[in-house]
Amino acid sequence: MSMPRKKKRKRRRWRLTLPSHNPEYLKTHPEAAQKKKKRHRRRWRLTWKAWLLLGSACALALALILPIMAENSKLKGLGYSSAAIKEIRKDKLTKTILDSKWYSEYLSDSLADQSVNLSYLQLYTAVTPAHKDVITSLDATDFLLYSRLIDRGYTADQAVRLFGSLHRWEITPLLVFDYQANDQAYIDDCVSHRDTNSQDHFELSGTYYTYYGNTEAVSDPGSIDMLVNKTWSLDSSYTPPQLTDISTRYAAAGRQLASTAADAFVTWSDAGAAVGVTFYAASAYRDYASQESVYNSYLKTLGQAATDAASARPGYSEHQSGYAVDIAATNEDDTPEYKDTRAYQWTSTNSMDYGWILRYPDGKQQITGYEFESWHYRYLGVELAQAVAASHLTYDEFWCLYLKGWDDPANQPSQDILTATDYRKEASASASPSSSASSAASASPAASASAAG
Ligand SMILES: [Zn+2]
Repeated sequence: MSMPRKKKRKRRRWRLTLPSHNPEYLKTHPEAAQKKKKRHRRRWRLTWKAWLLLGSACALALALILPIMAENSKLKGLGYSSAAIKEIRKDKLTKTILDSKWYSEYLSDSLADQSVNLSYLQLYTAVTPAHKDVITSLDATDFLLYSRLIDRGYTADQAVRLFGSLHRWEITPLLVFDYQANDQAYIDDCVSHRDTNSQDHFELSGTYYTYYGNTEAVSDPGSIDMLVNKTWSLDSSYTPPQLTDISTRYAAAGRQLASTAADAFVTWSDAGAAVGVTFYAASAYRDYASQESVYNSYLKTLGQAATDAASARPGYSEHQSGYAVDIAATNEDDTPEYKDTRAYQWTSTNSMDYGWILRYPDGKQQITGYEFESWHYRYLGVELAQAVAASHLTYDEFWCLYLKGWDDPANQPSQDILTATDYRKEASASASPSSSASSAASASPAASASAAG
């Protein structure tokens, strides 16, 4: 008991040492009392200011943090993982993603492991468990195809719907076809043919390609990879680079091809003869005027529709390019159709190793616009021909996907995607080093390119 009293007394004694704390003193000194009052007020005022400052700092912090917390919770609500949300914030994608409500587990995972390609964010939403029959991941070819669809006039929503509904080989024909405003009708048609269609056989009930409907002039006439079809045409003045006669040992009299194609045909034909398969060029280069007279003679008797089914319009025949040949078998006279010959068995399986492709395959009529022509081959050089064969695409699709110029340069993908999808990489990887034909003909593209100008 005595201890605290002692303390108290001590404190009082200390207090009493300050005059301003002594009420007796202040009573007798009013100016000191006034001073104390002022000081007190000032101290009180300072404290009030500090509180205000602290309060507004807190309010500001809350104003900053609360929306972030709200956004994060919305992102979480869409299904994004914490790691994905971190990347979304880092890449400033919060508004984009929340406004459009884009989500798929694949997108979340790709964001989280930083493998996402930010230019194709929406396309990632096509990859969902519900679409796993047609798509389970995205690669550079998908990004290229998506960009091509956009360049073809499809909206991002349409493109994403196509990717979520169709196999890649069901989408690539759209690059050749007319623009389909009603993409759902096309999707339904594809789906209804799933039982019989494959990447090597593609049929549809509807028609999606208006032959000669949206025609364009070949942009690089003479180049070995140019596309000539029922959309892309050659001028009446076009003649193939270094048009060369083919020896009658290998062709009917007077047949000609661009020099690279003529050389490659001889190499191919010699390789066939070496294993007892003999064939020759029944038809090769046809100029514009002769195609015109053939077409017009049909037109007089058959009418437009039947003529278009039987003959290419002048300028639209691949034979005018100087890179196309119609083959006939020799020593197989009892077999009227080339597709039934031993020569066809041989040419159709190895043409790509000699730089040629079967241009109008069976089962791709609706894409090429031509009935199956077992005899018609197109020279592309070994690299490109092997890449086309490996792709299972018609040349029409392959060219539209990999080689066509861009209608709007803004739609062109980044250089890494163009590099990753360069057919020359695939061709060199799959080319057999043991094939002497490959090395013999691989010089051709370069030679033709220099002659093309
Ligand atoms: Zn032909």
